[in-house]
Amino acid sequence: MDLSYGTEYIAFREEVKGFISKNKDKQPKAGAEPGNPELLAWQALLIANGFHSRTIPKAYGGYGAEPDIIKPRIISEEFSKAQINTGFSGQGISMLTPVLLEMGTEAQKQQFIKPTIHGEMVWCQGYSEPGAGSDLASLTTKAELDGDEWVINGQKIWTSTAHLADWIFCLVRTEPEAPKHQGISFLLFDMNTPGIEIRPLVDMTGKANFNEVFFTDVRVPKHQIVGNRGQGWLVANAILGHERGSLAPPDAAQSRLDGVTRLMNSETIGGEKVIDNPVYRDRLLKLQGSVLAQKANDMRLLSARINQDQSAKLAGMIVKLTGTELRHEIEGLAIDVMGEIGLAYGDNPYLRGNGSWQYQYMYYLGLIIGGGTSQIQKNIISERGLGMPKEPKIEAK
Ligand SMILES: Cc1cc2nc3c(=O)[nH]c(=O)nc-3n(C[C@H](O)[C@H](O)[C@H](O)COP(=O)(O)OP(=O)(O)OC[C@H]3O[C@@H](n4cnc5c(N)ncnc54)[C@H](O)[C@@H]3O)c2cc1C
Repeated sequence: MDLSYGTEYIAFREEVKGFISKNKDKQPKAGAEPGNPELLAWQALLIANGFHSRTIPKAYGGYGAEPDIIKPRIISEEFSKAQINTGFSGQGISMLTPVLLEMGTEAQKQQFIKPTIHGEMVWCQGYSEPGAGSDLASLTTKAELDGDEWVINGQKIWTSTAHLADWIFCLVRTEPEAPKHQGISFLLFDMNTPGIEIRPLVDMTGKANFNEVFFTDVRVPKHQIVGNRGQGWLVANAILGHERGSLAPPDAAQSRLDGVTRLMNSETIGGEKVIDNPVYRDRLLKLQGSVLAQKANDMRLLSARINQDQSAKLAGMIVKLTGTELRHEIEGLAIDVMGEIGLAYGDNPYLRGNGSWQYQYMYYLGLIIGGGTSQIQKNIISERGLGMPKEPKIEAK
């Protein structure tokens, strides 16, 4: 089987490599927060050269390339190999922009896409509520029409980056009498609107990456709705597809696995390199097998998209489940390889890789839950992918 992309892509790969070697010193430092000038300049450079927002039309601030499924793969492979910053990737870019392109009005595309992809407008995703997570359609935050404005009351929870976000895309109940999936609408609004209160929540990484968000009589112009009134569930599902696909790409898993291999060559147990310990080597090889399987699955998805073949539906459904669990295991192996240093955190001087292994281990435990838990992914795979019977619905009393 020939898994190469063909001769026509060799020149493109060289172009990507050339960009990386010429510009790698301009990339922002790890951990740069939204709004950081280095991050914004890097983002603009990536877009200008077609290495970010590649197929987004020029009219909306993108590079405007013709769709080509393989070129983004090559970009991802080369950036990952060279461990180069791939640019800003917040929820506005990975989830909202594709949906605006598909379902937004022309005015919404003009207003939001350019600042979003350039990292100048940061978004958060207001879906989950204290009583609505896996069963998202039970959400109760309500929006009532008053003249030309929606008036929003309710609470969201686990809202990542709400404390940094300029705007929110938010699911609200607009038709309380309709069946629960049909009474939801998808609104966009400014996080500085009066009546919004944000309270930080510290997650397992030790950082306050997500928040509780409270809405009290928040007034939002009527036209800031995506899709029709009551059709928010359709919009939300389109976004969840984009979110799940983007949470754990195989190139990043390969890059982290390469990092663990280097760590096993430099760390020792009883004076011997960890890589020479058969128990650890066995764990490494099993993970290497899983990364290879994930890359092969990714190739299968790529080929199905090129050939417009629907038979890869199941291959797409497993990406979030296997990808996030695999990343968690890779980070976990690194922690074990480091022994007691693996338990260090914060500003401990013995930390390896600035503590990124510990951080990512905790972060990926969160991603196994965020965007739909592993149990929910298994339900989706078994019911929609394998055609097994649906789980019985038990209505809350
Ligand atoms: C790091 C992180 C970031 C997040 N960011 C955001 C964000 O930006 N915006 C946002 O809106 N939300 C966000 N979330 C929330 C996330 O989407 C929810 O946590 C997730 O959907 C699960 O909902 P829940 O927490 O209410 O758990 P519950 O739905 O209460 O689930 C509790 C447990 O029961 C299991 N369970 C529930 N129903 C079933 C079932 N039918 N079958 C089998 N098992 C089941 C679940 O798998 C889980 O183990 C984030 C979460 C995390 C961890």
